[in-house]
Amino acid sequence: MLIRVAVPVPLLDLLTYQVPENIGAPAVGARVVVPLGSRLVTGIVVEEIKTDDGGDGLTPAAVKNVQRVLDDEAFIPPDVVDLARWTAEYYAAGAGETILAALPPKTRGIRADAHKTHRVATITEAGVASLANAHTRPKSRAHEALRLLAVAPSGLATSDLAASGIQSAAVAGLAKRGLITFRHERLTRDPFEGASAAGTAASNDRALTDEQSRSLIRLSGLVESRAFHAALLHGVTGSGKTEIYLRLSLAVRAQGRGVIMLVPEIALTPAIATAFRAAFGDRVAIQHSALSDGERHDQWHRIRRSDIDVVVGTRSAVFAPMTNPGLIIVDEEHDGSYKQEESPRYNARDVAVVRAQRACGVVLLGSATPSLESYHHAMSGKYVHVALEQRVLARPLAAVTVVDMREEYAANGPDVVISRSLHAGLAARLALQEQALVLLNRRGFATSVFCRQCAGTIDCPNCSVSLVVHGEGRSRRARCHYCNVSVPVPATCPKCGAPYLEQAGFGTQRVEAEVKRCFPEARVARLDRDAVRRKGALASLLSRFRAGEIDVLIGTQMIAKGHDFPRVTLVGVVSADVGLGMADFRASERTFQLLTQVAGRAGRGEQLGEAIIQTLYPEHYSIQLACRQDYPAFYARELQFRKAMHYPPQVALINVIVRAPSLSAAMHDASGIAAAIARLDSHARVLGPAPAPLARLRGQYRAQMLVKGTRRRQMREAVLRAVAERPQLARRTTIDVDPFSVL
Ligand code: ADP
Ligand code: ZN
Repeated sequence: MLIRVAVPVPLLDLLTYQVPENIGAPAVGARVVVPLGSRLVTGIVVEEIKTDDGGDGLTPAAVKNVQRVLDDEAFIPPDVVDLARWTAEYYAAGAGETILAALPPKTRGIRADAHKTHRVATITEAGVASLANAHTRPKSRAHEALRLLAVAPSGLATSDLAASGIQSAAVAGLAKRGLITFRHERLTRDPFEGASAAGTAASNDRALTDEQSRSLIRLSGLVESRAFHAALLHGVTGSGKTEIYLRLSLAVRAQGRGVIMLVPEIALTPAIATAFRAAFGDRVAIQHSALSDGERHDQWHRIRRSDIDVVVGTRSAVFAPMTNPGLIIVDEEHDGSYKQEESPRYNARDVAVVRAQRACGVVLLGSATPSLESYHHAMSGKYVHVALEQRVLARPLAAVTVVDMREEYAANGPDVVISRSLHAGLAARLALQEQALVLLNRRGFATSVFCRQCAGTIDCPNCSVSLVVHGEGRSRRARCHYCNVSVPVPATCPKCGAPYLEQAGFGTQRVEAEVKRCFPEARVARLDRDAVRRKGALASLLSRFRAGEIDVLIGTQMIAKGHDFPRVTLVGVVSADVGLGMADFRASERTFQLLTQVAGRAGRGEQLGEAIIQTLYPEHYSIQLACRQDYPAFYARELQFRKAMHYPPQVALINVIVRAPSLSAAMHDASGIAAAIARLDSHARVLGPAPAPLARLRGQYRAQMLVKGTRRRQMREAVLRAVAERPQLARRTTIDVDPFSVL
């Protein structure tokens, strides 16, 4: 008997193996140990081959034998195996790397045995002293391990250290030197630990608003049909979508079926999971990448054993091993984090639609600012459109003021970060002891360093971007946001040697410093990727803000999403223009969404809310319409642009990027592929190749072409064949089907 196996190796397609007579036939979804080159790897059985010749024209004799079958039954449910196969095909990715997304973390290597305890390392006093005296080489693994452990009072699992790139050899070395100690801890860790404070529990007996009731009745009807339906829940910010998710989920459970609830950001899982826990008890699991391997492993197996009614998770939870999902909810469905920006480049929202379809379930896409794609489907009748136009308890939307920064600069010079209006707004909220959010979607202190003599900037040695300054004073460093290279800010210009370097532009760290300077008595904190690198930092910041221990929270788009902070009455946007200048067809859409979402964080409690938006382009339509929170008008305007320029949802898009050591080589190779695509699919339009907007990234040059058309399958096949005809380019080519961003 021959089987096809997905092995967790990038780019590899399914592989064919022989099952020897003495081994029983494995089920689809079971794990098998198979030889691959000189190694043994664990793969997943994807199908049995019925024909005699092995499908690939291989004779059985040429096919290697399966070594061991690890499971009597499917380890991954067969429908999840099929979903992963569909995903691999649709997104032109390897089958094995796609099935990885459906596996719990511990099965990813050859060691498939479940573990019972995990080993936790804690730093000793000698370790702290050694760190302080710099006895370990800076940047060494050992040093890094000590640094991480020094800020983790209850220690870290060795698996977590391994996940941070610290191998067991380094850890063992430290233990030998007495700098760390180990203890063993039982498994079944509870990822809810410490999360309860972050939640807003749903009150089950709360009366729904009329709009909520009508929407719920409509959606319950879809659930009761036990047939596939896709629905868009288009509800303004604060309209009470969560309550609908919860009640609809209860109806699904009453049918004996499960619910998968996807959220865009790890930060949103505790609040949502706590709300679901209030309604479903402990039959709620969490799946996201910030859990330790052990935690994820436990949760995965609880789902697989059907001990779970609801899975709350980020992107990859769409592959959760739930056997009978009746409802898949995708909250903030427009969000870019549903798209994985590495292979397999899937969009979990779209995979969710396919999964619901195959499971005869309902997929519910929720958003205050739907993606153009989803709204387009709702308008064409492909998706059921359910609208919530009012905030609960008739709370008005925040009043929005636009500040024209050109006038601020004229009045107060070009260094202004906080305008007079925003300053006055913050002062007023502080006086009233209310809370404020301040958004700037750009990290760091200053966006570039330039030389006043030669006008040169300090650029990344690997990427075509300038380095961003992080920190102030002596700890200043210039860092690349793409490849993470970081150097101390030099005192003189590396290009002309002049000592006239200046910083330009500003990021969240600068805003934090400005707000602290203006309001020294205020409690100010910052929430961005730099501020929450340490495990638990994010949850702790959010719960401190919720508890009223922070007056002003400054942050990137991380603060704009989904959170419900009833005491926030002011939202300030330091610059609405950060995304507008990008050479990306979604720039306006993203700006509109971000502004609408962040303004929606104000006035969700009993006090009225206001938003103050600073911009250099007050007349831009995405800023104007976001201020009015007029989604339909934005959709109409943006759709015109997409039609005129032939972009989604008007056409399907595949972005093909070819990397090479020089731009001319990249352009040359890309031209060959572009010509082949045009030859293979005469209906598709191929734009380019041209240097990508980020023409150099991590030391490699990038040429890009956009394939546009209405027949996605033919387009994809043409691209795949064009690349297959040039095997030497396979590793240097990225195929992105339905790209979210084309930088
Ligand atoms: P959305 O996700 O649509 O922005 P939420 O679901 O976060 O909105 O709800 C906004 C706020 O309104 C929350 O504090 C929620 O608890 C509250 N809420 C929701 N439904 C009701 C209701 N029927 N009556 C009173 N408060 C409600
Ligand atoms: Zn770089």
